[in-house]
Amino acid sequence: MGDVLAFAEQRDGVVRGVTHEVVSTAAALASELGGECHALAIGGEGLSGSVGALGGFGAARVKVAADGALAGYAAEAWAAIVVEAVRAGSYGAVLFPASAVGRDLAPRVAALLDVPMASDVVEVSGAGGAVVVRRPVYSGKAFARLRMDASPAVVTLRPNVFPAQERSAAGAVEEMAVSVDPSSWKARVVEFKTASAGSLDVSEASVVVSGGRGMKDPENWALLENLRDALGSDVAALGASRAVVDAGWRPHGEQVGQTGKTVSPKLYFAVGISGAIQHLAGMRSSGTIVAVNKDPDAPIFGVADYGIVGDLFEVLPALTDQVKALKA
Ligand code: FAD
Repeated sequence: MGDVLAFAEQRDGVVRGVTHEVVSTAAALASELGGECHALAIGGEGLSGSVGALGGFGAARVKVAADGALAGYAAEAWAAIVVEAVRAGSYGAVLFPASAVGRDLAPRVAALLDVPMASDVVEVSGAGGAVVVRRPVYSGKAFARLRMDASPAVVTLRPNVFPAQERSAAGAVEEMAVSVDPSSWKARVVEFKTASAGSLDVSEASVVVSGGRGMKDPENWALLENLRDALGSDVAALGASRAVVDAGWRPHGEQVGQTGKTVSPKLYFAVGISGAIQHLAGMRSSGTIVAVNKDPDAPIFGVADYGIVGDLFEVLPALTDQVKALKA
């Protein structure tokens, strides 16, 4: 039971960046468990071409379940296909990204297989043949180390925590025969609402620029957008506290925290955000945290690596100019 199955998430045939992290981690875990890493992609026709490159991240076999009816996420059908792939193999672990799809799919798969699962994992190893994971508890204030004895262990991995490592393996692509009957589905996704075209999802960006109530007015978001653009809109995304989402200033998709998204970028800017425990729950595992707040006692400074005590309306333009100068 030493093989590891990595769920290869794609959207519209484009493999998501987080999939490279999941496949790389699955490959590392498989070598510790003494087995092979396999990847499984589910989606519409023509998927084989886009997922073939996953071999380069350590997948010895890339299984593809493609059908026109599977082009969009369909929870029941996708879960049944993952379960079928698991049962056909000898897997010690099944890894998913802790993305919106992964968070929905993994517990369904675990329930159907009647095995335990661990979510939002930040470390995973296969020491001694058992899968051992580390995951945050109590809103990220502590970590739990769990040994998952039942096989396979179903795990979701927090994005941006595990490295995507290119390897020399060349994975063989195998088409899975699937029979899909959409008329039997009890639920179906009728619409995907994407954030503004081309903008990165806050949970997958390697730099996040977040604003809170201290921004005073939604019009002032131009200051955060300028900083985001100076850092590079291909790597940086905007985030928000719940206070500004509840006020209707920003979309819920940008909310970071306990009731929003969990982010773990390399660099996190918290601007005009007090640092309530529910906000910290979603961002405290970020690599480097920079906080801008006029209140020196704001709790955000308790988790910040760099704290700037000052008026954000003066600090933000100066910070943006400095970033532009460094990149020039
Ligand atoms: P505030 O707390 O009002 O802070 C604004 C900050 O801006 C202050 O620190 C102030 O000093 C600073 N400031 C003001 N003007 C300036 C200036 N000119 N220059 C510099 N700094 C300035 N919150 C989340 O963020 N995410 C969640 O997912 C979330 N989930 C929740 C779930 C539950 C069940 C509950 C009860 C609450 C949740 N909250 C969440 C809300 C959370 O408790 C806070 O109310 C919220 O995070 C506060 O947002 P804020 O920091 O933007 O606003």
